[in-house]
Amino acid sequence: MRRADVNARPATWDPPPEQRTAPDQLPAEAWRAVDLFEGEFARRCWRTARGYLLLTNLRCMMLWQHHELFRSLNWEASPQVLLYNVQPPHVLLGRFVEVQAAYDPAEGSIRAAVADPNAVAEEIAAEVPRARAEWDRRRTQALAELAAHRARRDQIAAALAAGRPVPIPRVPCKYCGNLMPITARTCPTCGAPAG
Ligand SMILES: [Zn+2]
Repeated sequence: MRRADVNARPATWDPPPEQRTAPDQLPAEAWRAVDLFEGEFARRCWRTARGYLLLTNLRCMMLWQHHELFRSLNWEASPQVLLYNVQPPHVLLGRFVEVQAAYDPAEGSIRAAVADPNAVAEEIAAEVPRARAEWDRRRTQALAELAAHRARRDQIAAALAAGRPVPIPRVPCKYCGNLMPITARTCPTCGAPAG
């Protein structure tokens, strides 16, 4: 018997309601090409000559349809520019809005033919400071997690070197929230089964 593909999305798949975009709606199929970061959401979306220009709280990307012979059309999300590393967006030839990475423009460069490039450039420019602050917050959090991870690793290494029992990581119980050893089969506080 053939197993159902649990990863396949139904044909009627719609983006989650919070991913309604303005001023133009990104088609549901195009969302499949967007691999959203955790906590990332759409801020603006504009129709372009080739597809869509999507501005999120973290990056800017082009979405366009790939044409292949005898195959359905695939959406592609590229190029993209992360908004912590971006030059001020500008208008090119009065027709395109251009968004380029600051340090290495070859790495990411968007040139989108939108209806009102001046307005789009202004809206993207207005989003950049907020996006930079969000990237800074994420970087700080990642560094803190890395420091905590290293501290745990050093603690285990020190215990092993001293011949002491290795500290067992503790995780919150999913019922009562109290910390319990990761190896416990039941929560020592509430008795709930672990896992
Ligand atoms: Zn518990």
